[in-house]
Amino acid sequence: MIRVYEYGCGPGEIENLHVAIEQMRRRIEFWNQLVEIDNDVRSKMEELLFAGKTETELSSLRVELNTLLRSAPLVVGPDEKAKDDQRDTAQISAVRAAIRLKLTEVRRIRRENIEAHRPELRKLDAERKARIAAVQTNAGLYWANRDEIRRNYESARQRAMRRGSQLQPQNWDETGKVSIQFQRGLQVGGAFLKNGRLQIDPVREAAWNSPSRSERRRLARTWLRLRVAANDDRSPVWLNVPIILHRPLPEDGVIRSVSFIRERVGLTWRHRLLITVSEPSRYSARSNIAAGIDVGWRLTDRGLRVAYWVGQDDTSGELVLPMSDVLEFRRISTLDSAIRSAHTSIVAFLGNFLERRSIPVGLEDATRAALGSSSPAAVSYLLREWRRNRFSGDRKGFAKLCDWHKQHVHLWTWQANLRDQLIRRRRELYRRFAADLSSRYGQVFVNDIRVRRLAVKPPLPNINPIPVQRHHRFIVALSVLYRVLESACGKRGASFKLLKCQGATTSCNACGMLDSWDRSLELTHKCSRCGQSWDQDFNAAKNVLRLGLLEK
Ligand SMILES: [Zn+2]
Repeated sequence: MIRVYEYGCGPGEIENLHVAIEQMRRRIEFWNQLVEIDNDVRSKMEELLFAGKTETELSSLRVELNTLLRSAPLVVGPDEKAKDDQRDTAQISAVRAAIRLKLTEVRRIRRENIEAHRPELRKLDAERKARIAAVQTNAGLYWANRDEIRRNYESARQRAMRRGSQLQPQNWDETGKVSIQFQRGLQVGGAFLKNGRLQIDPVREAAWNSPSRSERRRLARTWLRLRVAANDDRSPVWLNVPIILHRPLPEDGVIRSVSFIRERVGLTWRHRLLITVSEPSRYSARSNIAAGIDVGWRLTDRGLRVAYWVGQDDTSGELVLPMSDVLEFRRISTLDSAIRSAHTSIVAFLGNFLERRSIPVGLEDATRAALGSSSPAAVSYLLREWRRNRFSGDRKGFAKLCDWHKQHVHLWTWQANLRDQLIRRRRELYRRFAADLSSRYGQVFVNDIRVRRLAVKPPLPNINPIPVQRHHRFIVALSVLYRVLESACGKRGASFKLLKCQGATTSCNACGMLDSWDRSLELTHKCSRCGQSWDQDFNAAKNVLRLGLLEK
């Protein structure tokens, strides 16, 4: 089983940080070159494959459908479901049918074009590979970083081709990561200290088992060296990082890769290390009974209910993100609008102020960028430039810009720290939930709603409707919950299985009746056939459990 050990940085200065940052910058540069080559070659391929008139007709049908869909109002209720559909449904389905036909036709022509142009397509792919090989040699990247970007690119390319989308370039913002890999693995015990890519100074056992917390903290401080580049004589350039080894790496584990991550939290930087280790599973599931979990979110009076579980032992429970956290999460978007409206008004003010004055030449570019960009960073940049290019009559405008900047930094830092704190708190809540479940059950079934709109459940009555239900998607971050659950199960030897459960929310767990009712009216529903009453989420969890046991 694969586990990731995360370590934070301790006090002390990171040696050769600038080398790592340069590698991060080159990783992005390399990625952007790959994106450029890919988009270029794909557009040449597209010319060969284009299905001509049929494909143009398909596009106009799609435009027509969009116009139809927008032509009449679709009144949406507080639960984001259509309440009142006044659209011309007959015509809409006619256009949809025409689109399906056309699409089949387009696909057929494209398949023929592939056959007809095989040699050209093969040539284009060879061209792509040759161009990649050329930029790769000049990328100035340590091979581990180069290979990682290549791998990311190949899989992103596959995804993009399936979706018919293009790869996107990335911006360089002084954050990123550098990695090393051990294809054949590096034993944790043993050769560790003499390795040419990774070295960790050992710490004493007491760092983990001393009864004194302060002693543990002190003893866990150590140094980790990671190879980030090579000198001319091929000797390693080490990134030397002070880390806190707050828990030991497993003696019998095998290290697969190590990444050093640099990220921005407000105005400061945070660095951390991720060590990926494969290790023997240490737990055998203590129990063989199963549990079903229904995930999705629903606002209750105590907070956002994120999951509900039922076990074969007839116990059940819920995972709730407390209301206080929900409100704090909402504060993030309030801060966001404050930041945006302050930005809009300073841009309006500057436009007015600078228009009537003659600006020094050195300020022109920065001014144009600040007035034309939607990013506050451009305005901050203008302030920096302005400070070096003061001119007569600029006092009022400059003072106003300084005021804006002070407030902006304050709001932005506040928001960044709040977000960071909330995300950590949420992960901790999920982790505890997952640890508890996976230690009690040998099998965990979860409904897979990662791509379904159904994840949005109506809020309970008597609760102030919130205009931004959509927002809850970000607050609950189900992908994090799935990840944490899977890893907790793996760690304890429990099996973890995602299930597509159609009808799990609407069929009765007692008799199988597929009922339909207004799910937003009440949380408890009474089955119209067998008369049992149940909490909707309990019912769904019970169905997930049943389906999971059936599928085995
Ligand atoms: Zn029933």
